[in-house]
Amino acid sequence: MSLPSMKNYINGEWVESDSTTIGDVWNPAKGEKIATVAYGTAQDVDRAVKAAKDAFWEWRTTPPLTRARYLFRLKDAFEENFEEIARVLTTEQGKAIDEARGEVRRMIENVEHATGVTTLMTGYTLEDIAKGIDCYGHRQPIGVFAAIVPYNFPGMVAWWFLPYAIVCGNTFIVKPSEQVPMTQTKIFEIVDEIGLPEGVVNMVHGSRDVVNALLDHPDVEGISFVGSTPTAKYIYKRCGETGKRVQALGGAKNIVAVTPDANIEAAMPSLTTSFFGCAGQRCLSGSVLVPVGDVADELIEKFVASAKAMKVGDGLDEQTAMGPLAGPAHKERVLGYIEKGIAEGAELILDGRDFTVPECPNGFFVGPTIFDHVKADMTIAREEIFGPVVSIVRAKDLDEVIELINTRGYGNAACIYTDSGTTAREFKYRVKPSMVGINIGIAAPMSFFPFGGAGDSFFGDTKGHGQEIFNFFTDTKVVIQRWL
Ligand code: NAD
Repeated sequence: MSLPSMKNYINGEWVESDSTTIGDVWNPAKGEKIATVAYGTAQDVDRAVKAAKDAFWEWRTTPPLTRARYLFRLKDAFEENFEEIARVLTTEQGKAIDEARGEVRRMIENVEHATGVTTLMTGYTLEDIAKGIDCYGHRQPIGVFAAIVPYNFPGMVAWWFLPYAIVCGNTFIVKPSEQVPMTQTKIFEIVDEIGLPEGVVNMVHGSRDVVNALLDHPDVEGISFVGSTPTAKYIYKRCGETGKRVQALGGAKNIVAVTPDANIEAAMPSLTTSFFGCAGQRCLSGSVLVPVGDVADELIEKFVASAKAMKVGDGLDEQTAMGPLAGPAHKERVLGYIEKGIAEGAELILDGRDFTVPECPNGFFVGPTIFDHVKADMTIAREEIFGPVVSIVRAKDLDEVIELINTRGYGNAACIYTDSGTTAREFKYRVKPSMVGINIGIAAPMSFFPFGGAGDSFFGDTKGHGQEIFNFFTDTKVVIQRWL
């Protein structure tokens, strides 16, 4: 039986790529290939950019409120198809179905927030900047923008950008991750139903060739990127060279501290899901757990028990708390980090290496894995593993925690569990990462706040969603006027 193959969406039509490079799409819980995707070419990109450019003027001159009405329609259409999107997402990515539902909910929230365009896109004016002279600044759309997105959030991440770009009057191209192209294809089938003018939104599947063609194309005005730090740096540099606007969100190594006064019992569910939810494949996942002072023994005992009690399995099973890793290569990479932790002398207190799920014998599972007595300079305490592997680094006091956080290159998120307001304030005031959780293990800003980190986790100045994104997708034209 032949597998479904993912098509590009260009100028309001589903089109085949003429590429001969075809990739596999997996159901990672079953270890089965479920679809194929052609890795698009520069010609595919050129077609999409031409469609987006041709659509721009008509769309740009459509009133913002009329543009927002398409988003209202889209929100309703997404709600109607909510469960189906979530199920496709879990099938190809592996995350637990409830988490997939959370992702789709966050995707829709960006559509909702973008409908505020008539307030959020307004400019500003000042009369009498000199005698009889007035000045005003309009925010104008710019042209064709594109998003290049990662595999761990196949639905939501493109929508941190797309609704804002188009509601401001730009046109758009999405390049989904080649590992998980089915979710965005499902989403674009829904987009296709709401009757947006042709060319306003487009999608080209593929890998590096598509990315490079977008980066090189003279008619692409700006790039929104989310993925690993090496790729984010590459995108940022290339956009500088070709003069494009860019926002590039990178990888993470998030530290979660627990102080002796914290309510450990109450914290345990959110702590556990911080480290093991989505099998650790979140840019906001906890990766290093830091017990402060004498809380260590009690915390570690309860944390290990909680990790062991998690149901690991097929994400489509409602009882599953943690699914598989997204693909065979990534599973090997995570196992490699566990070997490295052992070789460097950390103490493996929960071993997820030979983990099996009886009903899914071929799935790409790694069980919850915990290392104790990890030193700050060990590889597993410094590098992003992106799997269900926790490094416990014990600290004597808050200063040591903050020092640990602020000496990682990454600066995505940092969390603290404490009952002390003084400790919490000191923590949020001094840490470098720009997403901070206080008694929250996944500090994920909602659509109306900006999403993005600091240091090696973010390159650019305007982050994902929030109010600032209206700056990224517009140019402020200043008019100085007098009547003679
Ligand atoms: P990745 O960098 O491998 O890929 C991201 C995108 O870039 C994909 O669409 C891919 O096709 C493309 N790409 C990959 N290598 C490329 C290259 N050499 N040249 C051009 N394009 C290339 O990332 P991933 O493995 O898909 O996703 C996981 C990473 O994303 C993790 O590091 C995670 O922390 C990060 N992430 C960050 C955030 C955030 O908000 N900061 C959110 C989600 C994921």
